[in-house]
Amino acid sequence: MAVEPFFPCGRCEACRDGRYSACSGRPSLYSFVATGVPPSLWGGHAEYLYLHPNSILHKLSPDLPADLAVLFNPLGAGVAWAVQVPGTGLGDVVVVLGAGQRGLCCVVALRAAGAGTIVVTDLSAAEDKLRLARELGADHTIAADREDAVARVRELTGGRLADLVVDVSAYATRPVTDALEMVRTGGTIVLAGLKGGREVPGFIIDKVVQRQITLRGVWGVQGPAYKQAIQIIQSARFPLERLRTHAFALDEAEIAIRTLAREAPDSEGAVHVVIRPGYAD
Ligand SMILES: [Zn+2]
Repeated sequence: MAVEPFFPCGRCEACRDGRYSACSGRPSLYSFVATGVPPSLWGGHAEYLYLHPNSILHKLSPDLPADLAVLFNPLGAGVAWAVQVPGTGLGDVVVVLGAGQRGLCCVVALRAAGAGTIVVTDLSAAEDKLRLARELGADHTIAADREDAVARVRELTGGRLADLVVDVSAYATRPVTDALEMVRTGGTIVLAGLKGGREVPGFIIDKVVQRQITLRGVWGVQGPAYKQAIQIIQSARFPLERLRTHAFALDEAEIAIRTLAREAPDSEGAVHVVIRPGYAD
C-alpha cells in the first residue's frame, strides 16, 4: 500500500469538493506531527506507522520493490505539476527549471504524457542530475550558470518558446524571471519551488498581462496524480531505479539525511535516498 503523506480533515468545503490539498480544517502530514501526540507513530523513519482514519491509500502490486514504490510521492508531484495542473498535451514544448528529484520526476511524467521537446536546467554543479534527466527522457539540458538559459531555450525552440515552464527550483528567484522570458505568449508557468519568502527582483507583471501568461502556483498533490504515478512505476517503462542513488538502514537515518543534503562523505550524485528498515549494506 502507498499512503499519501497528507491526511485532510474530510469535513471542510474544500475536502467535500474533492480539493483536499486546499483543506481549511485541521489537515496534517505524516512526519509533521510531533511524536508527543499519541499514538506517536506519525511516520518518518520507523518500521511502523499509525494509519489515521483520514489516510488516503493506494494499492500497489505486491511484486513492486519498496525502493521503487516509494517514488509514488515525488512522481505524483511530477504528474500533478507538469501534466495534470497545466493540462499538458501531446507534443507540448516544456522547460523544467531544476533537476532535483521533483524536476526529474517531471521529466518522466512529461514523457509518459507524450510531451514534445523537454528541456531541463540546473547549475553546472548538478551535471550528474542533468545527465540523469537526459537518461530519463529530456531532449536538452542547460547549465544555467554557464550558458544563457533564456537564449538557449529560444534557440532550441526556433524562437517559438515553451508552451509550459515548470519551476521546481528551491530558493533561487532567477528561474522565475527566466520563466517569463522562456514561455510563449499564451503559455503557462507552474510555480512549485518555494523561495524562502523572498521577493523576486526584476519581475515585471506587465509581461504576464501583455503576453497573456497563465501563472499557476501548486502546493501538494492529490489522489489522481498519485494513481497515475503508480501506473507509471508499475509499467516499468522508465529506468526509475536510476533515481535511487543511495540506500541506508534505519539506524543510519542521520547519514541518509546528510547524504540528501550532500553533506555526508559519499553524497556525490545523491538524488533519491531511501531508508530501508531491516536493510544492512
Ligand atoms: Zn478539509
